[in-house]
Amino acid sequence: MRQFLQILVLTVLAHMGVAHAQANKYPDKPITLVIPFAVGGPTDVVARMISIPMGKSLGQSVVVENVIGAGGTIGANKVAKATPNGYTILLHHMGMSTAPSLYNKLNFDPLTDFEYIGQVLDVPMTLLARKDIPANNLQELIAYIKANEQKVSLADAGLGAVSNLCGLMFKSAIGVNINTIPYKGTGPAMNDLLGGQVDILCDQTTQTVPLIKDNRVKVFGVTTPKRLEALPNVPTLDEQGLKGFDVKVWHGMYAPKGTPAPVLKKINTALRFAMADPTIKQRLVDLSSDIPAANKMTADGLREHLKLEINKWGPIIRKAGVSAD
Ligand code: ASP
Repeated sequence: MRQFLQILVLTVLAHMGVAHAQANKYPDKPITLVIPFAVGGPTDVVARMISIPMGKSLGQSVVVENVIGAGGTIGANKVAKATPNGYTILLHHMGMSTAPSLYNKLNFDPLTDFEYIGQVLDVPMTLLARKDIPANNLQELIAYIKANEQKVSLADAGLGAVSNLCGLMFKSAIGVNINTIPYKGTGPAMNDLLGGQVDILCDQTTQTVPLIKDNRVKVFGVTTPKRLEALPNVPTLDEQGLKGFDVKVWHGMYAPKGTPAPVLKKINTALRFAMADPTIKQRLVDLSSDIPAANKMTADGLREHLKLEINKWGPIIRKAGVSAD
């Protein structure tokens, strides 16, 4: 028995030693940053922006991989099930907090299947329509929608996406059930809005500010309580009568449960390095997005926020009677 215990202790120590050695060597190959939406959307825009300085900090390239579908839950699940060695990480938005209420058969649990690296960014949304829609303010848009209820189409990135959440809130606020067309992300959805194939899209400023400034779409409001510095002439939806319309999309970075602490620390350091980059900071401010305070760009900061958000959105989603299953 004594010999067995000795062998057991030596085996455990050896395993811990190997894990410790691997963590010390980390990273010795490129890291995959999974984005659960299609190329070109706001999540992808942010990921490709920060992946370069993160790679500089880590000394290995950070390669963005778009794993799409089911409102972001397919990509999130891929990371939840990945080997916990720090080579597969996730950038996802507040969809991590709405998925547990939207999907009864979710393949992962946001609260137990991940390690938390930190909050990344808070991004407002804008309500857009195709450039040639015959409406020049929110009241005219609402009148057009009501007069063409069967014809009008609203694009989003599927149940669990924030464009879907914003669309649901808009439809509920105006009392019209607009025909909704789901895409694998608001990148492809925006392509169809620009092409006139769909009429309306609610999307994050990280994708929409340049298109609004280039007059390639019509903008009818922002989803924040106050107007945005980058879009001073765009009224809020709240001030135009859609009272209480207050949506800002928070984002977090995650790793699979069991990823070693020294590895998580290196990834968090790389995230902080990227978000402190002056060029990135300026670009994100120009896109009306807010970089969280240092104490939120931590494991505890993200974990606590995620818990609060799951508890916040659960009752709202259940009351709205929305679910995927
Ligand atoms: N953020 C998603 C994307 O990047 C869109 C969404 O959640 O609505 O495509």
